[in-house]
Amino acid sequence: MTIALPPVRLTPFIGGIFQEPGEREEAILDPATGELVARVAPASSGQVVEAIAAARRAFDEGGWPRMPVFERGQMLRAIADHIMARAQDFALLEAVNGGKPISGARREVAGAARVFSYYAGAMDKFFGDTIPVADNLLNFTLREPLGVVAQITPWNFPLLAAAWKLAPALAAGCACLLKPSPLTPLSTLLLAEVIADCGVPPGVVNILPGGAEIGQLLAEYDAIDGISFTGSTAVGTAVMRAAAGTIKSVALELGGKNACIVFADADIGKAAKSAIGAVFGNAGQSCSARSRLLIQRSAVEAFTEALVEEVAGLKLGSPLDAATTLGPLISAAHWDRVNQSVRKAEQDGARLVTGGHRPAGLPNGNFYLPTIFADVAPELGLYRDEVFGPVCSITPFDTEADAIGMANASAYGLNGSVWSRDIGQALRVAKAVRTGMIAVNGLPSASSTSVFAPFGGYKRSGLGRELGMNALSFYTETKTVTVDLT
Ligand code: NAD
Repeated sequence: MTIALPPVRLTPFIGGIFQEPGEREEAILDPATGELVARVAPASSGQVVEAIAAARRAFDEGGWPRMPVFERGQMLRAIADHIMARAQDFALLEAVNGGKPISGARREVAGAARVFSYYAGAMDKFFGDTIPVADNLLNFTLREPLGVVAQITPWNFPLLAAAWKLAPALAAGCACLLKPSPLTPLSTLLLAEVIADCGVPPGVVNILPGGAEIGQLLAEYDAIDGISFTGSTAVGTAVMRAAAGTIKSVALELGGKNACIVFADADIGKAAKSAIGAVFGNAGQSCSARSRLLIQRSAVEAFTEALVEEVAGLKLGSPLDAATTLGPLISAAHWDRVNQSVRKAEQDGARLVTGGHRPAGLPNGNFYLPTIFADVAPELGLYRDEVFGPVCSITPFDTEADAIGMANASAYGLNGSVWSRDIGQALRVAKAVRTGMIAVNGLPSASSTSVFAPFGGYKRSGLGRELGMNALSFYTETKTVTVDLT
């Protein structure tokens, strides 16, 4: 199925202007067909420096950080409305560029608009304190915008990730330099257009398409006050190291290898059904994917059977087909990585229950069958490492203490799930598991994650929290003012 792409500007957006294309171009491929969909001009290092200067001017001399928060809020509300007015264009770009089934892509677009709406009304409810330090002193704190912030996003939720970063930063009064993934820049470039149409002043938002070298430059550069990064733990480590030279504020949303603990007394059918979103949503390319299924021994057989049945109902195919529920992986290189993890798991002795290869009838594109392994020992790479594809492992456990120990045997600590009809047990486990988030007897999908609640991880899954009022802490500095009353 060929489809005309919505018109979108394909060059860096700096100081309120889409730049002329330079000599370099990056090919953007449709993951479902391998066909070329666009050529995007990456920002040159000179353009990155220009963008930093534009952001600095917008922040140091411009009206944005000084504007009454209510007025900034109105502009964020206008951005939310404009996103919804162009929802179909955004959804098509996410489907064609990111391989997302169109129905899920539409939900993500609505989710991105909701993030701007939320922060439109947040900053007039986020302010300092009065602190009773001494009788002869008046002491209060001010929340001031952090300044110029760099923001780096991954390819798996391009528009949502951009909204999660831009909306709170703009609400707080910051100026932004956002670098999308080189694999999925299209929806972020359309967002730049929407933001400009809503009257956000030049230099307040700058979008810099391109790769690692731009991210590295942003992380190192002196005139930037903070950096918010979403991506792999390996690159997050490099970003933190690069940012150390200038003591930037750093926020990191990194990888996960999330456990789903199912006790034998749980609603096994419901738990297996939820895995369709929790494990295979976005073709498993989600930091929150519950790909480590820990099942109480007496329920392993029933759960595995129910999961295989659920997985058989997934429909792989063109993301533009409304019936599709499982799209392709993002790139051919990523398909190879996922396939290598599967082959390695087989060599390591894990039992392949279903999947493990390209689906018949889809010879083109980066499609991979939903894949389930059973009898996966906690020592295996499959149990420990993020695969970032539609691949999960089933491992039995015996007691509550075993389940907690096995869930916590991970360098990551992002998300998780626990299923039990014994609510005391479920909540004891929820408290004992060392993750930033955990779901009990149910699961919101990634696109329905509540914008009101903080999102982030323990351990090597990150630093800080996005969403909710928590995100505003990162995008603001606290100033303590002391007044002598004598
Ligand atoms: P990645 O780490 O390869 O790239 C992320 C971004 O960093 C891209 O924009 C990339 O161009 C940029 N980058 C690469 N090298 C850089 C460097 N040296 N300095 C600065 N920037 C650099 O990740 P990815 O493959 O795009 O995304 C998948 C990863 O993201 C997974 O590990 C996933 O778990 C993680 N993720 C985490 C969350 C979360 O909220 N915790 C959300 C989505 C994705």
